[in-house]
Amino acid sequence: MERRSFLRGAAAAPLMPMGAQVGERPAIKITDIKWFLVGTGGRNPNQPGGRNWVIVKVETDQGIHGIGEAYSCGPDEATAKVIEDFKSWLVGQDPRNIEYLWALMYNFTRFPGGSVVNAALSGIEHALWDISGKAAGLPVYMLIGGKLREKIRVYQSAGGEAPAQVADNAKALVEKYGYTAVKMSPHMRDSNRLPYNQVTRMAGKRVQAVREALGPDVDIGVDIHAKFFEVNRAIRMAKEIEPFNPMWLEEPIRPENTDAMTKLAEHVNIPLASGECNYTKYEFREILAAQCLDIIQPDICVCGGLLEMKKIAAMAEAHYAVVAPHNPMGPIATVVNVHFAASTPNFKILEYHPDDRSPRKDVLKEPLMVKDGYIPVPNKPGLGIELDEAAIRKFPPRPWRRGFEFREDGSVAFI
Ligand SMILES: [Mg+2]
Repeated sequence: MERRSFLRGAAAAPLMPMGAQVGERPAIKITDIKWFLVGTGGRNPNQPGGRNWVIVKVETDQGIHGIGEAYSCGPDEATAKVIEDFKSWLVGQDPRNIEYLWALMYNFTRFPGGSVVNAALSGIEHALWDISGKAAGLPVYMLIGGKLREKIRVYQSAGGEAPAQVADNAKALVEKYGYTAVKMSPHMRDSNRLPYNQVTRMAGKRVQAVREALGPDVDIGVDIHAKFFEVNRAIRMAKEIEPFNPMWLEEPIRPENTDAMTKLAEHVNIPLASGECNYTKYEFREILAAQCLDIIQPDICVCGGLLEMKKIAAMAEAHYAVVAPHNPMGPIATVVNVHFAASTPNFKILEYHPDDRSPRKDVLKEPLMVKDGYIPVPNKPGLGIELDEAAIRKFPPRPWRRGFEFREDGSVAFI
């Protein structure tokens, strides 16, 4: 064979499908993978856009389909392109061979993926679980260990500028949804431009106001949002808010330097939480081995998917750490997280946005709703949800960026 025709043949050869038949059950083959970008920033094209939800739909030849959600990293059309790229490897495969298909996507990408590749992989993986559950006639959590709790504890973040405003907002959320925990930022607006003494002082006043409004027993998470890279800044802020007994101090410093987080942990008396910017078991291995975090916060839409998050959680369990998943995305992400939480012993609490407003209430025919601070575990096959494709077309995607922040001297800050 001539070299040129050999190479052409290699390029055209389809990936061999893993064995498809399962016992007496018929084979299932993936026939198509679709994506939808759903805009959440309103319909006025002259206004800045909110982030987009990246929804994945995997179709099969047996009339079963699955849905999932990829993380919105910013350049969301790039994530959609990666989903299309992975589709060419997955069509013809049995969607239930999830470890095999994960390895196809992860190993054949060759370079460890960043946020865009891991988001695409994660969204597809959710849909594979949805199909597997529907094919088996079981909720997804029954395929990954079964149910070990009846309801999932959730929290919501409270915003506001003045301390009294944050306190009022937090109290209103607790009264409306029955939360047993809320989260807040210690920062005022433009904190990157303010003197650090003022930032620290106001952080204390903000957390104090929320603690006094909620009483001694509602948990309060405090999220620095990785705005610092100096350990001493985080230590000073921790000392300021420690008297108000926070549930955790989240992303107290940037996520790149585990040694710095270990140093911080030696000086702080608040449980430390982080992990939304980390991907896969490989990155969490280093974090957990350092024993610098009490709570890890992987995001199921970007860490590698549901099974990858189960593996990360198992590693955390062996290190006596708990998991509080990062979950700022759409209603599908919440549902996948609920299946994770239902089946994971060291789950702590889930970040949540109520699905009672547009477009959150429109994407799924029956979104999961919080009741007295908890989401009841669903019992339908698969993920147990149905996408409303007609509704999501009403929310076209828009370009989105998180924002831009500068320090007083004009240098670029972290956001
Ligand atoms: Mg966070």
